Amino acid sequence: MPGTEPLDLQAIVDDIHRELAPRLGEGKVADYIPQLARIDPKRFGMAVVTVDGQVFQAGDAGLPFSIQSISKVFTLTLALGKHGENIWKRVGREPSGSAFNSIVQLEHEHGIPRNPFINAGAIAVTDRVLAGHTPREAIGEIVRFVRYLANDEDILIDAEVARSEEATGYRNFALANFMRAFGTIDHPVDHVLGVYFHQCALAMTCIQLARAGLYLAASGSDPLTGHSVVSRQRARRINALMLTCGHYDGSGDFAFRVGLPGKSGVGGGILCVAPGKAAIAVWSPGLNQNGNSLLGSLALEMLANRTGWSVFGA
Ligand code: GLU
Repeated sequence: MPGTEPLDLQAIVDDIHRELAPRLGEGKVADYIPQLARIDPKRFGMAVVTVDGQVFQAGDAGLPFSIQSISKVFTLTLALGKHGENIWKRVGREPSGSAFNSIVQLEHEHGIPRNPFINAGAIAVTDRVLAGHTPREAIGEIVRFVRYLANDEDILIDAEVARSEEATGYRNFALANFMRAFGTIDHPVDHVLGVYFHQCALAMTCIQLARAGLYLAASGSDPLTGHSVVSRQRARRINALMLTCGHYDGSGDFAFRVGLPGKSGVGGGILCVAPGKAAIAVWSPGLNQNGNSLLGSLALEMLANRTGWSVFGA
């Protein structure tokens, strides 16, 4: 706005980190696989990448962590690119209001998951990414796509995390078998889940993650390379889904408190989009009762308050 001071984003990010420091360790770290259970609960990272390419960071913003369900944003983008609006024949666009791995709703709604960000919906989307590929090729395509988005060839999958996910993913197998029975997914369940577990096991830093999400803050094109990733309308729609469905049954509360599209992962990361301004990634492993990063959500609420960034008004 004319006449107002430019934002000192580095000071804002540093202040948030300093103010949250006494609370680091709050929340419950995911313990369903040992690789997540052993993460230091006091880790905290935050990175803001602006549409003009400036990077502001604090804490452990350069340490890779397991992005888990945040990967669902990237596979949805990829699947929409391959199959267009046909995706919506197999997955809905409504908030679920139930847990990330709920089975009850899926039965009730005849095997069509509520949205692409709950586990069932993401598994259905991964089935679409797999179309025409072997699982190995699909995994390679996802990794290449995320590297392209982040403009960073160093991004890797943590194979140990992927193996553990596979060994303990009973509910995901149940969801996928259910959807196979309804015809929502076409490929063998172990192939689809093999790809899904690998996408969840992508390890990225807050800086890489915010950079990879920058296209969503810039109308679908990477503002730094000029590459067109998705159309302007599609970027808006992905943001709309992140806002309404990105935090499982905590999505309404996140929209209320933060007012920006976001997608959380059980590893404690959140990717958040301030359209026209920046992409932001936070990481704090302790989760709240909905499985979203407790201090990560708080850090984003503080950032939104201090910058005035909101999709709901100036
Ligand atoms: N790999 C996890 C699962 O499918 C991801 C859940 C999440 O990040 O919320 O159960």
